[in-house]
Amino acid sequence: MKSALITGANKGIGFETAKQLLQKGFYVYLGSRDLENGRKAVEKLKSEGLTNAESIPLDVTDDNSVKAAREKIGLKTDVLDVLINNAGINGGEPPYTALEAKTEQFMAAFNTNVFGVARVTQAFIYLLRKSAEPRIVNVSTSVGSLSLQSDPSWPAYNYAKYAVYGASKAAMNMYTVQLAYELRDTAFKINAVCPGYTKTDFTNYNGGAVEEAGKRIVKYALIDQNGPTGKFFSEETNPETGEIPW
Ligand code: NAP
Repeated sequence: MKSALITGANKGIGFETAKQLLQKGFYVYLGSRDLENGRKAVEKLKSEGLTNAESIPLDVTDDNSVKAAREKIGLKTDVLDVLINNAGINGGEPPYTALEAKTEQFMAAFNTNVFGVARVTQAFIYLLRKSAEPRIVNVSTSVGSLSLQSDPSWPAYNYAKYAVYGASKAAMNMYTVQLAYELRDTAFKINAVCPGYTKTDFTNYNGGAVEEAGKRIVKYALIDQNGPTGKFFSEETNPETGEIPW
C-alpha cells in the first residue's frame, strides 16, 4: 500500500486531499499542529469508512515537532511515497501591502510557507528516496507567480493584497525549482500546484469547491513516470494544459 504525508491536513484542502488519496487506496498520515483537531479529522474519515488514516502531530515551523513526526512515521514505515506540503498561512492580519506589511508578517508567512516546506522535505527525503515513484507536491498559488503578477492582462495583476503571501509562495516556488533540479536524475516528480480559489477558512469560504482543489493536487501526487517535474500548475489559470509561468 502506498503512503502519503500531508501537512496541514486537519481541515480545508489538506483534509480533502487526504480523503481523496484514501479513496485511491493510500495509507495517509495527516499532519496537524493541533492534536485534537488531527484526531477529529481522522475520526471523521474513519466514520466514512476511510480507515487507513492516522493523525501525526506536526507544526511545520517547529524543528522539534518535525523531528518527532519523522521519528513517529519512521517507526511505522521505511518508505514514504508522497509528500504534500500543504500547510500555509496568509501572514497575520492585514495590511499585506508592500509598503505597510510588518516584518513580523513576512517572517511568519515565510516560516510556514517556505522554511516549513524545506524543513519537512529535508526531514522526510530519506523515506521518500526509498519509494519507487516518489512524488512531492508543494501547494502554491497563482498569485505567487512573478510572471503573472507583472502581466497587466492578468485579472489579479498587481494584487497588492498579497505582497506578503505572494512573496512567500514565490520563494517556495523557487525552492521547488531547486529541489526538482537537485533530484532531476531520480524517479522523483516534484511540482508546485495551485489548487485554485477555494472555499476554506483561508478565504472565508469564498471560491470553488474543495473537492475540485483536492483533485488538482491529487493529480500531481499520482503523476506517472512520464509526467512533469519542476513545473508550476494552475488549472484555474490555464484550463488547457494547466501549466503556468513561474
Ligand atoms: P486552511 O483551511 O486555512 O488550512 C490551512 C492548514 O494549514 C490548516 O490545517 C492549518 O492548521 C495548517 N497550518 C497552518 N500553519 C501551520 C503550521 N505552522 N504547521 C502545520 N500546519 C499548519 O487553508 P486552505 O485553503 O486549505 O489552504 C491550504 C493550502 O492551499 C495553503 O498552502 C494555501 O496557501 C493554499 N491555497 C489555498 C487557496 C484557497 O483559495 N483556499 C488558493 C491557493 C492556494 P490549523 O487548523 O491548526 O490552523
